[in-house]
Amino acid sequence: MIQLIPVPALRDNYIWLIRLDDTRAEGPAPAIIVDPGEAAPVLAALTAHGLRPIAILLTHHHPDHVGGVPELLRRFQVPAYGPAGLRLGPGYRPVHEGDVLSPGGLDLRVLAIPGHTLDHLAYHHDGGLLFCGDTLFTGGCGRVFEGSARQMLTALRRLAALPDATRIHCGHEYTLANLDFALQVEPENHRLAARLEETRRLRARQIATASATLEEEKATNPFLRCHLPAVRRAAERFCDRTLNTELDVFATIRRWKDMQ
Ligand code: ZN
Ligand code: FE
Repeated sequence: MIQLIPVPALRDNYIWLIRLDDTRAEGPAPAIIVDPGEAAPVLAALTAHGLRPIAILLTHHHPDHVGGVPELLRRFQVPAYGPAGLRLGPGYRPVHEGDVLSPGGLDLRVLAIPGHTLDHLAYHHDGGLLFCGDTLFTGGCGRVFEGSARQMLTALRRLAALPDATRIHCGHEYTLANLDFALQVEPENHRLAARLEETRRLRARQIATASATLEEEKATNPFLRCHLPAVRRAAERFCDRTLNTELDVFATIRRWKDMQ
């Protein structure tokens, strides 16, 4: 059994801990750390949950995702995997599209998904887990900082093509703001309205909502729905012109969200 633990960090980041069962040993269970933007909350969570780190995975170079790596590598003799171009010391191992990692026996395939940043990676386990950093968010997507809208849309379509039951795990608690915006785009989407209500309830109890199935995302996330007439029409109303391609629709609603 794999257990996913979201560790809140910085302002609204999550560092994901993947707890792996270790049937062989007594004592702390092995865990993989995803995107440690700072070290202190990771150290506290490892202690609280009785975990020992075996690897670190990084999705992209932004400090809120890698800031804790140097201290963690000083404390633990574990490999850190992530994009080429990062300088994080001798324990750091750049990985690339198509690589398969197997920390603790958990097979993870590396997907290169530029858009938010040019170096952005996702990690996919075909038992239904995806770690997608700041590319696909619950109810939204990341800002396009370094890549083009075309790259970002390509990245999102690639993730959306994974099996519906895949659970995404993203880097920030943005769901509420994302779904608020999504409902502006699709006020008639009842499933979306219900998801927003449910998210409000969960957030009132400070429960993390940065994980969901791709099926739910495809039903409610406007950035995965740019091919649909309702989303196109909303984008056309926003920019007051005809939009002929899914890419134009995507770029328009991304710009619209950026203005919120
Ligand atoms: Zn980022
Ligand atoms: Fe981030």
